[in-house]
Amino acid sequence: MNALLNATHDPQLRSWVASANEAGTDFPIQNLPFGTYSQGPQGARKIGVAIGDKVLDLRAAALVDTGDMNELMAQSPAKLSALRASISQGLAEGSTKQAEWAGFLTSQSEVTLHLPCRIGDYTDFYTGIHHATTVGKLFRPDAPLLPNYKWVPIGYHGRASSIGVSGQTFHRPLGQTKGPNEEVPVLRPTHRLDYELELGVLVGQGNALGEPIAIGQAESHAFGMVLLNDWSARDVQAWEYQPLGPFLAKNFASTISPWIVTLEALAPFRAPFAHPEGDPQPLPYLDSPANRQQGGIGVALEVWLHTQAMRDAGLGPERLSQSNFLDAYWTVAQMLTHHTVNGCNLQPGDLLGSGTLSGPQAEQAGSLLELSLGGKNALKLANGETRTFLEDGDAVILRASCERSGFRRIGFGECRGQVLPARATQ
Ligand code: MN
Repeated sequence: MNALLNATHDPQLRSWVASANEAGTDFPIQNLPFGTYSQGPQGARKIGVAIGDKVLDLRAAALVDTGDMNELMAQSPAKLSALRASISQGLAEGSTKQAEWAGFLTSQSEVTLHLPCRIGDYTDFYTGIHHATTVGKLFRPDAPLLPNYKWVPIGYHGRASSIGVSGQTFHRPLGQTKGPNEEVPVLRPTHRLDYELELGVLVGQGNALGEPIAIGQAESHAFGMVLLNDWSARDVQAWEYQPLGPFLAKNFASTISPWIVTLEALAPFRAPFAHPEGDPQPLPYLDSPANRQQGGIGVALEVWLHTQAMRDAGLGPERLSQSNFLDAYWTVAQMLTHHTVNGCNLQPGDLLGSGTLSGPQAEQAGSLLELSLGGKNALKLANGETRTFLEDGDAVILRASCERSGFRRIGFGECRGQVLPARATQ
């Protein structure tokens, strides 16, 4: 049925790493996501693969000859697929590698996880049509979607320097904001701090400047996917975004999850892709039989909030919303192809954000801007707290997983970030 499937996806496969066989693990042997870690924050950087609650040192196991993820990402899909097959075979029950490789495992709880790769450039798309519609309605009730939305995979160039890995903390940013009753703007801490639930595509092989990536080859340039929280200061955004788009409202912090789930690992969860009937069909350069047959990827997404009051009371986090990447208006292949159609060159490690992934129902929104209807409708939390936007001490946790009958569930781990109080106003 699905030509992308191979022996590494076999749901019957089990690992000699016992925790990889537990029902709830995000990292069974069918997943094998890549990350960069060290023993202690200052230790040498290593490339590892998550297996159950352990990480396997790929260089020690003689599977790679580099500690630099970007070098690995630049390799051809055929080489990467062969590497995945070798890792899968070595970690499978009954493997002759067990005695040797057991010495190359470390508990994930004992290592420091870093950004998985160097991210040279970061682009954020806007593929969440339900997000675009809801946010558009706040500004333009009669015409929420601008006329280009169903033709162009909209995006903007973001900033890579402030991207951090799960566990990132940041001070509530200062910015120019102007309230509706104020004559002039004031520099002050944002009071409409928000998260955005997104997936990120990390680019593998690059393309030469001037040479577009055709849609038929696009996925061979996608190394894998991570969770992405595109933290946003809505009051700063409202004042600054015209005419050139997002700037300081977005570039103070962005957080990604540490484990790159490869496109190959996502193969069992592929789905047909189509625009709704009556919508424009994609222009030919954004269309292909493969993109129609299996351009979609079923990734179930969740946002959780853990407030200071919850932690003080010994309570766990509360889930705010759920959605699915299947509701995106453009596919991974379409984002890559559109980005390069003018000859723009992508490089290994570049990050392409999906845009906020909200579902069709109001409660499936991937940001507080939507869930609180622009701050007008406070969310009531189970412990009695309320939220319109984020408060100091709030931790936001994104999670994702893929499930399909007849296949092993895989997960992305978590993407966690926490808001610290603002520094003193200048
Ligand atoms: Mn975004």
